[in-house]
Amino acid sequence: MSCDVCFAGERRPQLIRYSLSMADRLVLVDHVPAEVCDRCGEVTLSPEVVERLQQTVWQQEPPARFIETPVYEFA
Ligand SMILES: [Zn+2]
Repeated sequence: MSCDVCFAGERRPQLIRYSLSMADRLVLVDHVPAEVCDRCGEVTLSPEVVERLQQTVWQQEPPARFIETPVYEFA
């Protein structure tokens, strides 16, 4: 399907890493099915995927793993 942001690219199915910040905690969800524009990079998620993401994050199940993340100040 063509992109409705840049109107030039094609949206293609892709597994992405979705990031979400909650208060002082950054949460990542790997292998989220999305459509990504091959030109502008706009990410589109289906309503079903958004609902599943919210369940995953709010249920606060033990995560698959932890990673260390550096934090920079823009200067
Ligand atoms: Zn686009």
